[in-house]
Amino acid sequence: MIIRNPHGAPDLACDECGCRWYDRQTNACYECGTPVPRAELDDYLRVLRDFHAARGIVVNSPAER
Ligand SMILES: [Zn+2]
Repeated sequence: MIIRNPHGAPDLACDECGCRWYDRQTNACYECGTPVPRAELDDYLRVLRDFHAARGIVVNSPAER
């Protein structure tokens, strides 16, 4: 699920336990091991890009495609 942190930035959290720690090697939750759906990752990156654009933040994200 995508949640907002107190600064308004999007954050990716586990659908099962709400944990925000992910193993980027396996794309799975550290807490419960639930895999993050590919579509959710794409969704998150899109929301994050929109957030950066709206704030005028320039990042050099390796996820940029
Ligand atoms: Zn979890």
